[in-house]
Amino acid sequence: MKVLVTGGAGYIGSHANRFLARQGVETVVLDDLSNGHREAVTDGRLVVGDMGDRALLDDLMAAEKFDAIMDFAAFIEVGESVENPAKYYENNVVKLKTLLDAAVAHDIRYFVFSSTAAVFGEPRYVPIDEDHPREPINPYGMTKRVGEAMLADYGRAYGLVSCAFRYFNAAGDAPDGIIGEAHEPESHLIPRVLRAAKNGVAMKVFGTDYDTRDGSCVRDYVHVEDLAEAHYLGLRYIMERNGSEQFNLGSSEGFTVLELIKEAERVTGGKIPYELAERRPGDPATLIAANKKAREILGWEPKRSDLGTILKDAWNWEQNRKY
Ligand code: UDP
Repeated sequence: MKVLVTGGAGYIGSHANRFLARQGVETVVLDDLSNGHREAVTDGRLVVGDMGDRALLDDLMAAEKFDAIMDFAAFIEVGESVENPAKYYENNVVKLKTLLDAAVAHDIRYFVFSSTAAVFGEPRYVPIDEDHPREPINPYGMTKRVGEAMLADYGRAYGLVSCAFRYFNAAGDAPDGIIGEAHEPESHLIPRVLRAAKNGVAMKVFGTDYDTRDGSCVRDYVHVEDLAEAHYLGLRYIMERNGSEQFNLGSSEGFTVLELIKEAERVTGGKIPYELAERRPGDPATLIAANKKAREILGWEPKRSDLGTILKDAWNWEQNRKY
């Protein structure tokens, strides 16, 4: 089997690419390296280019004869999407359409898509299952909501078979420290907490007056290695069944920011300096996934998504980063 991995030099894409290679799947990574890292592509050939470039896609698809596409090539910053929605619609919708059109033209039937918990917006209930209404509250979530709709419509009209995964809080790094999370600038909680542990410079806890156990936000952290495995299982499932699916991917456990800092102090063996700060706009109080569907249908079993293991792998990466 041969898979085109768009955005395979990025955080989740690089882990999925490596996981696929370990299963004997041949991969080609297409990444423009706008946020990705050349060093993150440990397996398969890297093609540096833009997934919105139809001529490039035509050449690549004609030459490689892919069986499937896994698409991780998206912009993911909520705040940036509010300030610059055009960038998000251009990349996450317009370029996605180019990729889907090329897939249809080259008869690549199977498509695995990175979606997000942000498609649900402000939760009406938790844990959030696949039937929860999708009412995004920011442009990032909306672009992914549109992406899901495009997949459904392309499925009905052109026979595209897809699997969309709504990630909750992707976290952790490869246990062997070869690849890991490297966003620039880093906005995510766990790397920021671990940097504070390393540098002694206080990080900020955004919001202390939420309706949660201790007033800080509750999130569901899921290990990137477990996400990678889900992509492989999801691809196999839609290929065998020839039908499209959507899954929420999380550990189904929620931790507050303050609980996470405490656990990080245990893992790192030191004090983590932090300041209590204002809420960050657009943050729901609590996000927790119902992962029953992925467990039951895909046989997905998160193996490294307990918070201690996530933080242990992330601490190892933070101390020995390769890029
Ligand atoms: N957060 C925080 N300080 C930071 C970064 C994040 O308190 O420096 C909080 C943020 O408000 C949210 C949680 O940590 O409640 C997870 O944020 P992150 O940006 O990692 O992921 P998101 O939930 O936005 O996908």
